[in-house]
Amino acid sequence: MKILTQIFIFVTIFFMLHNFLIKTQLKALNNITFKKTNRKICIVLVDGLRLDSIKYMPFLLNMIDYKNGILYNSKAFPPTLSRPGYERIFTGSPTNINGITRNFHPVPSLIPDIFLLAKRSGYKTALSGYYWFIELFPYSFNYRYTYFNNDSRVFSNAINIIDKYNPDILLVHPMEVDKAGHRHGALSPEYEKSCENVDNNIEFLWKHIKDKNYTLIVTSDHGHKDEGGHGDGNVRCIEIPLIIIDNDIEKLNLVPKDWVSQLDVAPTICDLLNIPKNSFMTGTSLIQGNDNLSVNLVMDNRIIKLNKRFPLIFVSFTAFISITITKLFYYLRNLL
Ligand SMILES: [Zn+2]
Repeated sequence: MKILTQIFIFVTIFFMLHNFLIKTQLKALNNITFKKTNRKICIVLVDGLRLDSIKYMPFLLNMIDYKNGILYNSKAFPPTLSRPGYERIFTGSPTNINGITRNFHPVPSLIPDIFLLAKRSGYKTALSGYYWFIELFPYSFNYRYTYFNNDSRVFSNAINIIDKYNPDILLVHPMEVDKAGHRHGALSPEYEKSCENVDNNIEFLWKHIKDKNYTLIVTSDHGHKDEGGHGDGNVRCIEIPLIIIDNDIEKLNLVPKDWVSQLDVAPTICDLLNIPKNSFMTGTSLIQGNDNLSVNLVMDNRIIKLNKRFPLIFVSFTAFISITITKLFYYLRNLL
């Protein structure tokens, strides 16, 4: 019983404090006026897709060849793991600032992600993807579908969400490429096949959304070693694609670049939707000449940036308080 009380107190305090930290940062948004666009964004995060596997994806290659899309060579950072990758891409902050260093670190992000920034700016947000996104960004999605397996379901559910709710920003997150990489290696026919499958699904999705004002962004959290696996600074884990597709790609004013990084995705999306950025985004927007409101949200650098282990300290602090309160509670109960 005592341990249950303690867990209950821990979770309550944790979410209260977390809520407070996020809200304090978002308060700055109240004082900003910005112009909402009618552009919509669909991001397909293909888990574990390395840069050179684009060759297995004829639809994407075609879009690039026919100038409906632009391919950037992009870079992930070590640790080339999923959860740290998701956090880097969608908060635009490096790992040494956001503190999400491991896959098994189920702590919500202390930095507002682009979905939350979009939601607070009046856009509708949605997810068809792995449940880790909910652990990381618990308040960010208006509509969501989470899964454990099966890419076709992920895409068909994404299409259902589009038809039903018409979201302004949607994340689609297929996982089977990563699974094939782990099981058979990135040089295997299974890996190739899963890339082809995702490509087919992306084509299907694009046909469904291209006349609905969507810009499609395809990228990945990390690559895979030849023999399968990821996590370190291996070049095959670092190098990932970033593809931006639009009916009128010229209009987006994208900067041509040899190399970009995972951290450039968040500020680019902020500029595309014309929403404020958080102050932890260290990447560069790929949109040319956009002097968009780059807002330093209130509780900026000082607390989190000064201490790289902020999330860890935050969790320990919460644990300490919950233990103390439980002890006190039982002590007082025994007295009576
Ligand atoms: Zn991953």
